[in-house]
Amino acid sequence: MSFQLEQAAQDLASAMAGLDLKGRLRLIEARIPGRLVFTTSLGIEDQAVTHALAMAQGRIEIVTLNTGRLFPETYDTWAETESAYGIRIRAYAPERVAEEDFVRQEGINGFRHSVAARQACCGFRKVEPLARALDGAAGWLTGLRAGQSANRADTPLAEADPARGLIKVNPIADWTRADVDRFVIDNYVPYNVLHDRGFPSIGCAPCTRAVKVGEDERAGRWWWEQASKKECGLHIHAPEADVAPGQEPAAFETITRNTNPELAR
Ligand code: SF4
Repeated sequence: MSFQLEQAAQDLASAMAGLDLKGRLRLIEARIPGRLVFTTSLGIEDQAVTHALAMAQGRIEIVTLNTGRLFPETYDTWAETESAYGIRIRAYAPERVAEEDFVRQEGINGFRHSVAARQACCGFRKVEPLARALDGAAGWLTGLRAGQSANRADTPLAEADPARGLIKVNPIADWTRADVDRFVIDNYVPYNVLHDRGFPSIGCAPCTRAVKVGEDERAGRWWWEQASKKECGLHIHAPEADVAPGQEPAAFETITRNTNPELAR
């Protein structure tokens, strides 16, 4: 079973290599029978994939993890995306009892107390809802890119996920950030305004900050932790470059927002 999954993932990755995003999505649907789930964080990479999925109108479900601690701008992006494409993004929320217990024991921002507390918060807000989102899925699509950080440098177009019994597909794994920006501009894709304010990677509000030019794209995530402890549990990766607490970005790069009058907002 595991070998078959591995072989199927390798074959899929090879076949995807020469295709554009539209062709890759079509191939994923053809090669993976069963439930297909794309998880979006509503970040710019995921917005590019969401655009392609909405245009294709295929059978790949679009879901998100509503941690309850997202930026207001992220909720705005969510609403704008649903309006622009006439779609619903299905949300998976934390289990009520788990959230209530954590907040009662650790406090509303108790994830700062320790790495264990932070991982527990990511556990009930992200990891457990993700497991429900992927329940019964044969394929899991993400917007991961190899260039996002050193830990993601080996991100393949497709890989076996034996623990979940599915194929994990990263259809823009080989795109650069410039490729993403170009796609978003050319296709009038709505994106989170925080990307124009120095946030290349956007997660929960209290755990994400802007980065400086030249820093790792994910350097603003859990910046107070030691590099070796930074994992949220959704995507397993190696240590990231660390960022000194208290630093603020000196400057940041922006992309030029493009507004398509044809899209309803
Ligand atoms: S990123 Fe922060 S707020 Fe969000 S789930 Fe993890 S620890 Fe909790």
